[in-house]
Amino acid sequence: MIKFLDLHKLNLRFEAEFQEKFKQFLDSGFYILGEQVTNFEKQFANYCGSKYCIGVGNGLDALVLIFKAYLELGWLKKNDEIIVPANTFIASILAIEEVGLKPILVEPDVETYNISATNIENYMTPRTRAILIVHLYGQLAHMKAINALAQQNDLIVIEDAAQAHGAVNNEGIKSGNLGHVAAFSFYPTKNLGALGDAGAVTTNNKHLSDTIKKLRNYGSSSKYTYDHIGRNSRLDEIQAVFLSVKLKALDSDNRKRQEIAKYYLSKIKNQKIELPFYDMSKSHVFYAFVVRVKRRQEFMDYLEENQIETLVHYPIPPHMQKALSHLNSLSLPATEAIHNDIVSLPMSPVLTFGEVEIITNVINRYS
Ligand SMILES: *Cc1c(COP(=O)(O)O)cnc(C)c1O
Repeated sequence: MIKFLDLHKLNLRFEAEFQEKFKQFLDSGFYILGEQVTNFEKQFANYCGSKYCIGVGNGLDALVLIFKAYLELGWLKKNDEIIVPANTFIASILAIEEVGLKPILVEPDVETYNISATNIENYMTPRTRAILIVHLYGQLAHMKAINALAQQNDLIVIEDAAQAHGAVNNEGIKSGNLGHVAAFSFYPTKNLGALGDAGAVTTNNKHLSDTIKKLRNYGSSSKYTYDHIGRNSRLDEIQAVFLSVKLKALDSDNRKRQEIAKYYLSKIKNQKIELPFYDMSKSHVFYAFVVRVKRRQEFMDYLEENQIETLVHYPIPPHMQKALSHLNSLSLPATEAIHNDIVSLPMSPVLTFGEVEIITNVINRYS
């Protein structure tokens, strides 16, 4: 069986260094908000090119803490409208809902799966205050046009960079540094994944950084002094240790993903399979390699019979979920069409080219 993503194999590459660093961690006797978190925050801020990084519990919390900080600072108010792609992972929308803001679901561009400045403009109202951009599947959205639109209309730009660690635009600017603030998830399957839950926020804004630093730790400014109604969402020391080790491999891992994508794109030749758009640059780090095919289940069953595991990112769009019943009446035909025929092919830095070749040949025989 060729796995969609072999996490065990992925992390085994770091076994010796993990064990050495784990021993140091154990000997330190320090578990929460210590040197390891501070070190990783510095490394990750430096990697993204942003001034500040705040380690938090997971990607959803990174988003929630960003919105909470804007509310605490008075830069957003309850019920403000937040633009968000309709075809995102549900966490992006949950974060907006959780803090009493109003998500405005925008149809994506069917070529890139990302929202564009033109689409965004169609959904803007006088109550629109922020845009939550999601670099879906690892591909950067067209931030130049989006940032220009945001600037003209005095909107906050937040990146959900949970699928785009290390993606870099043609000016050399990385995800995490393409808006006012960014949320990252280090869920184990992400391009940079911990060995458990973890997340981070990056920004160049000191007020925002200071506020989020307090909010992740009960709203505390110093021990037992509280400035805000915060939560407990801290990055664990041990996860920071693992992340520091794995961060060093992120660029080469992303290059491997891009090479696999290039192989799929040049070698998959089957009229039934629609391949994704890729401009061959570093602006796409292929968290997922997503093809489109009619009668998806048939295709997935065929691959399964041929010992190839696939996934769907994601089978049901957020506005059609029971949890978001107040959005169920929205009409989002492009989003619904996408969710009906997308399939994610195996993609990871530990996939071998032998496996990629097998997958390609099996797909080319699909009829
Ligand atoms: C994974 C993901 C999240 C949530 O991250 P968690 O760490 O699982 O909470 C948010 N947004 C997007 C786009 C994601 O892919």
